[in-house]
Amino acid sequence: MIDLHSHSDCSDGALSPVALIERAASRGVRALALTDHDTLDGLAEAHAAARARGIELVPGVEISVTWYGRTLHVLGLGIDPDASVLRDPLCALRAGRMERARAIGMRLAKLGIAGAYESALRFASSEGALGRAHFARHLIASGHVKDMASAFRRYLGDGKPAYVRHTWAQLDRAIAWIVEAGGVAVLAHPGRYGLKPERLRTLMLEFRAAGGSAVEVACGGHGNEQVQLASRLAAACDLRASCGSDFHSADESWLDLGQAQLPALCTPVWQHPRLQHLARLQ
Ligand code: AMP
Ligand code: MN
Ligand code: MN
Ligand code: MN
Repeated sequence: MIDLHSHSDCSDGALSPVALIERAASRGVRALALTDHDTLDGLAEAHAAARARGIELVPGVEISVTWYGRTLHVLGLGIDPDASVLRDPLCALRAGRMERARAIGMRLAKLGIAGAYESALRFASSEGALGRAHFARHLIASGHVKDMASAFRRYLGDGKPAYVRHTWAQLDRAIAWIVEAGGVAVLAHPGRYGLKPERLRTLMLEFRAAGGSAVEVACGGHGNEQVQLASRLAAACDLRASCGSDFHSADESWLDLGQAQLPALCTPVWQHPRLQHLARLQ
């Protein structure tokens, strides 16, 4: 029961780090990575709670990256939460998040939805944490859409009226920050980027060349076909395989904590020397 991808309300999850750990423990998860978007803010609290509940916290992060105009996510697992080589660039990414959120608020205002920035902020722990999920929650609460999926389909998704283009970190830089902070870089949910297999292979080779170690093979949003493709390409590119639910909240997520399972025959990411302490928890 190893889950290497989850969110707290320090980014766009709904549960506090303590409540997230409680839920993981009660579901039998033995090792959980907290991987909030572009922030390490929840890790200290999660660490204390995990220690109290006897589960292994894997300190993590999910970094937003721009690769040839497309947004990708890179997970850092087992990072040192105090490493300034990681903390400083994440701080810059959060400043960018805030700027983008203001622009999203203005787009929504033009579409007749006033005050969205302030309202979205009520769902977020800080301005630097603001993301599209917080705007989606406001759009649901104010009756503009019925659920998360419609909020992205009608307003916030790529190319939709309230979508704001944004340049995040460079792929090779993000991987370097993770590795220099003592962690392992994992390409998150490759099946969600809309890339053809050949392009995905190019991405994985570039990811590997830049110091990346693994690909998230089993995760929320991956059907059987995506799991098979990711696992085949990862093996071909000499990358290990990771699994994580990408849990955000009980009503909004594809999978609950602990539900993403690696297929047999994969080389698990916990065989990496930096994560070997997890292998015994499997
Ligand atoms: P951001 O990093 O602020 O651009 O927001 C990305 C986040 O929005 C993802 O991590 C998900 O939590 C959420 N998200 C993106 N697309 C969807 C979708 N189609 N349905 C539900 N949530 C989504
Ligand atoms: Mn998210
Ligand atoms: Mn993601
Ligand atoms: Mn995630």
